[in-house]
Amino acid sequence: MSTPFPSSLPDPAQLAGLANQCVACGLCLPHCPTYRKTRSEADSPRGRIFMMRGVLEGQLPLSGAFVHHIDLCLACRRCEAVCPSRVEYGRLVEGMRARLAAEQSPLRRRLRRRLLAVAASPGQLRLAESLLRFWQRSGLRTLARSLGILGKLAKAEAALPELQPHRAIHDRPGPEEVGLFLGCVARLADSETLRATAFLLEKLGHGVRVPAGQACCGALHRHAGEPEEAEALARRNREAFAGLKTVIVAATGCAPALKEALAPAGIAVREATEYLAAAPGWENLHPAPLNTRIAVHEPCSQINALKDAASPYALLKRLPGAEVLPLPGNDQCCGGAGAYFLLQPEMAGKLLDDKIDAIRAVKPDFIATANVGCALHLGCGVKDSGLGSEIAHPVTLVARQLGFKS
Ligand code: SF4
Ligand code: SF4
Repeated sequence: MSTPFPSSLPDPAQLAGLANQCVACGLCLPHCPTYRKTRSEADSPRGRIFMMRGVLEGQLPLSGAFVHHIDLCLACRRCEAVCPSRVEYGRLVEGMRARLAAEQSPLRRRLRRRLLAVAASPGQLRLAESLLRFWQRSGLRTLARSLGILGKLAKAEAALPELQPHRAIHDRPGPEEVGLFLGCVARLADSETLRATAFLLEKLGHGVRVPAGQACCGALHRHAGEPEEAEALARRNREAFAGLKTVIVAATGCAPALKEALAPAGIAVREATEYLAAAPGWENLHPAPLNTRIAVHEPCSQINALKDAASPYALLKRLPGAEVLPLPGNDQCCGGAGAYFLLQPEMAGKLLDDKIDAIRAVKPDFIATANVGCALHLGCGVKDSGLGSEIAHPVTLVARQLGFKS
């Protein structure tokens, strides 16, 4: 069992202790997406661990080059999954990022916290949603695109799908009540999956509670080096879901952080495909056939953090007629990685190109992925390359064949 991620600024000696677990065997190198692209030791897990140890022990300067190599890491934890010495690389790099964030100027830190605060506030998210919908529908978007004035925001703007009018997800009273976690990006960009999850839970005989006070899982805050902010969100979620035994999460990127947040309150967090694939009640459900090819994209959060590649397949296999197969290259990150595709567009683009090649080879009707960040990033690539595959959550594909209308 690994140690929890830090909830406050981690001690350098503690982090150096994690780095010292690495025996420099190099077995992780061929698995690391950034090393595979640059072939530079400094962009490999072993190289990053070596540099982190040097900085933490005061033997290397905290240089711009060091920060660049740490920023280029996807925090995909592929290295951790294959490391024979069980080096907890995820904890190490997030702890290092927290220390780097603490070194930044107060102005820069305040700005980052201000941006992250939008993700943490349901009210501000609703406001952002309304403004973005206005932007998409009013013609402002078309004008800005034609004038080319979006600059660095162009990538984020293009990744956002067409937002539908806001539809609140209400409680569905019933027996065996479970909580539904809404997330921040997911409630904005993929409310269809959340409604499909509530629909399928109800079909399988569950009541669903959607507490209004729930907050973001805090994963974005941790990735950005803000563990105290992440812990504040964890407290809010413990209060919001108090009294429930189980909470369902439809985005694999949120599930590990929420698991840690709710564990002290004795609340189990279950990823949606894992819970729904194995839930009792399927004997009474008969999904309509879906005679299509579905390629499954396995998010890093699902295979390296949750360590569960099987559940999306198990759920999709409940669809008669569907040909379900893995997207080739699933052991490599797509480059979405939270906000990575916005912050490191060049590397994210190279990793996305590999996924597009795989999609082109397999020619699926659907690409199923259980993480909203991957879905947005892959969606951009599919659109730009003119491929016709639809990106959808496995839960949504199954719910549609049971009568769910988005
Ligand atoms: S992180 Fe693990 S696999 Fe990679 S070099 Fe260190 S000990 Fe070897
Ligand atoms: S977390 Fe991913 S990108 Fe970072 S060093 Fe490990 S394998 Fe490479």
